[in-house]
Amino acid sequence: MINQERIIADFMGLVQINSPTKNERQIADLLTDRLTQFGCTVDEDRAGEKIGGNAGNLIAYLPGTMPNAPVLLLGAHMDCVSPCENVRPQRKDGRITSSGDTILGADDKAGIAAILEALQTVEEQQLPHGDIQIVFSIAEEGGLYGAKHIDRSLLKASFGYELDSSGRPGEIITKAPGQNQIKITIHGKAAHAGIAPESGINAITIAATAIAQLRQGRIDEETTANIGVIHGGIATNIVPDLVEVICEARSRNLKKMQMQTEYMCEAFKQAAEVNGAKAIIDLEKKYDPYVLSEEASTVKIACQAAKAANLAPRFESTGGGSDANFFNLYGIETAVIGIGMQKCHTTEEFIEEEDLCNTANWVVEIIKATAKATK
Ligand SMILES: [Zn+2]
Repeated sequence: MINQERIIADFMGLVQINSPTKNERQIADLLTDRLTQFGCTVDEDRAGEKIGGNAGNLIAYLPGTMPNAPVLLLGAHMDCVSPCENVRPQRKDGRITSSGDTILGADDKAGIAAILEALQTVEEQQLPHGDIQIVFSIAEEGGLYGAKHIDRSLLKASFGYELDSSGRPGEIITKAPGQNQIKITIHGKAAHAGIAPESGINAITIAATAIAQLRQGRIDEETTANIGVIHGGIATNIVPDLVEVICEARSRNLKKMQMQTEYMCEAFKQAAEVNGAKAIIDLEKKYDPYVLSEEASTVKIACQAAKAANLAPRFESTGGGSDANFFNLYGIETAVIGIGMQKCHTTEEFIEEEDLCNTANWVVEIIKATAKATK
């Protein structure tokens, strides 16, 4: 069993450390100290420099006592979405909330707290364990940039868990979508709207034509699309010559993700062409989807450990990406697991103390179950 009051106090402390995306220096320094105290070697990679942040990903390694056990990865991200500065956590009736003017930051400091508590428990109770790799990443929010730019030469794990889902403990995400981001710039032709409108080509009208006919929102059970941003135009007396539209396509099926992306690009290209304009497409693949079999070691060990922690294991699919998308791409079979954070990315975010403790217990059981497995 973990120490409940200790993990709650630790979590309350962690959420009070400001760590907006690309500004993780303070928490990275604190976590480096904490991990070092547990006997980990801690490397900080240079991903922060590549993305304009002030800290890198922390990749820690704790040598185990069971040399034949597979190397286990435990991951969580250090950054938070805004507004996340000066969080004042409140404890009431078994629930932890912010004071209402900021997010809480359980996403993802509940994951960090659970990993730290599990490591401390393993050390105190001298539980046998294999080698453990801990990855505390930067800039997960807004595009998984830390995981994307991580120093892969430091990754040694065979499989692992990313503690970053809003499901309750026991929930195992076996399917997650990939995402393409598509930026379309429509170049029309400027003209005086009152004197010579006929010599202009209105880029806003062209974008509107394409958007109006596009199928977006939920496309099918595993595919979604969204037009998220639009900019364009300067004044009412100018026929606008430039519009920028940013959209995304996601699917848990790579082929469908590509098809939806092509379909959206084509709609803008055609609308532009028919009207004598040009659509410039800038396509960025954010990450690939992943699907884990129920027979995968990651999934089997998570189930076994959940039962040992008195939690009911459940399989879920998600519509969101996480660092696990990249770890899977790098060949480390990684499942995202539910840690009980709720109403994330809002000022109503909260977590039940029970869920925080259950997650830490689950991680202890995962470490124990992995120690008994073989490479
Ligand atoms: Zn998160």
